[in-house]
Amino acid sequence: MLRLANFIDGQFQPPVAGQYLPLIEPATGQVYGEVPDSEAVDVAAAIAAAEHAFPAWSALPAPARSAHLMRVAETIHARAEELAQAESRDNGKPLSLARRVDIPRAEDNFRFFAHAITQFHSEAYDMGPQGFNYTLRRPLGVVGLISPWNLPLYLFTWKIAPALAAGNTAVAKPSEITPATAALLGDICREAGLPAGVLNIVHGRGPAVGEAIVTAPAVKAVSFTGSTAVGRRISELATPTFKKLSLEMGGKNANLVFADAPYEEALATSVRAAFTNQGQICLCGSRILVEQPLYERFVEDFVARTRALKVGDPLAEDTDIGAIVSEAQWQKDQQYLEIARAEGGSIRCGGQVPPPVNARCAGGYFLEPTVITGLGPQCRVNQEEIFGPVVSIYPFADEEEGLAFANSTPYGLSATLWTSDLRRAHRVAARLEAGIVWINSWMVRDLRTPFGGMKQSGVGREGGMEALRFFTEAKNVFVAG
Ligand code: NAD
Repeated sequence: MLRLANFIDGQFQPPVAGQYLPLIEPATGQVYGEVPDSEAVDVAAAIAAAEHAFPAWSALPAPARSAHLMRVAETIHARAEELAQAESRDNGKPLSLARRVDIPRAEDNFRFFAHAITQFHSEAYDMGPQGFNYTLRRPLGVVGLISPWNLPLYLFTWKIAPALAAGNTAVAKPSEITPATAALLGDICREAGLPAGVLNIVHGRGPAVGEAIVTAPAVKAVSFTGSTAVGRRISELATPTFKKLSLEMGGKNANLVFADAPYEEALATSVRAAFTNQGQICLCGSRILVEQPLYERFVEDFVARTRALKVGDPLAEDTDIGAIVSEAQWQKDQQYLEIARAEGGSIRCGGQVPPPVNARCAGGYFLEPTVITGLGPQCRVNQEEIFGPVVSIYPFADEEEGLAFANSTPYGLSATLWTSDLRRAHRVAARLEAGIVWINSWMVRDLRTPFGGMKQSGVGREGGMEALRFFTEAKNVFVAG
């Protein structure tokens, strides 16, 4: 049976206390391995290794760090199939999706920041006879990186690459539910020749490992992606220490379809935005708001397209909807179906656990993609993040009402709007309370742009130069003339 280990100081090490958690394959419901259930003592060893590695790593010129990151990217590329298989197995997502999106993106993250660090610069101001004022940007030291289960390697590397590029060393914690690709990344870093201690990976549960990282005085910044509830807890723990914090949290994203939308594109992309990765992407459009004149037609066509999606074994090439990541999340999704019924919603398709997709997957966590109508904007189903293949569609009367409905949740991660009216597109985009707005598109982004949410979806921004700024301290130096 597969037994994962922590990656500390360039070595794979068992947890000091020898405790493990089971690794469950969501498609089968079977245990296929175990992952360290680490404790504060393991985190302390990782921090010590990172502190030891910091002086040499941070002293390397940017092109040398860039070359290291590029070698990691190349090694991910060479081992892409192994990573995709591991990711599909421990996450339940279709293997085709892991091959097409998650693993190439992890490679891109390293490539992107390998390039970005060679272009990163700080300001200098000539003040004439008075003097000269410039900004030094220096790495912070040891940083803590905590990531969720939904895009395990994609989001893990989105933090690791800029942290290392900027000259920091890191203690990183993947989700205990999906740790397999993170464990492979340790091996990849070793193969790529990354110096020992620059990246340390500690597996385990949030309250034990995550909180030990967040509260350690030696950890100068924490970058977290996950739920709003855990983000709040991290914020409470970290605030008294004044360490830098970046929090990327939950969402309840609106997909606003105006009557003049480019219909076929809006329909096809809305279905994709609803159900990709079983609806378990923080950017999924789970609230679909349709302008009244188009509403009935849109619902009918959306339901027909949803019915055509194939729920299946993640390993099958023609599977659209794989397994839900865990039994707990599977049950949560089903509880929301009960809530929808209790709130008076009508389940237009899906809503059931399907018959076994094949013999191998008989014990797996599958759920039909579900479309709910008849619930108003204040219903729990339209206010709370479900994070599964469950969407709600409701109508709006005009632009003002559409905007009010879209902005009516505590979240503000992303929003999509569909219209052929150029002026309205810009007007509505500016008023949507969301950190990312897509006009007539979804999930397209230049990695140079800042990424993050508003309201309870995020604090701080990741991506591009913003990430390099987060992972450095600006020092203002003035030289008298
Ligand atoms: P989660 O908050 O339960 O866990 C995220 C990570 O935090 C895990 O590694 C977990 O072990 C750790 N953790 C848990 N408790 C902790 C604690 N007390 N202290 C420190 N660390 C702790 O989230 P999840 O269920 O893994 O992921 C789903 C959530 O992530 C959804 O809410 C989703 O919207 C969000 N998400 C947000 C983004 C974004 O960019 N905004 C991207 C992906 C996922």
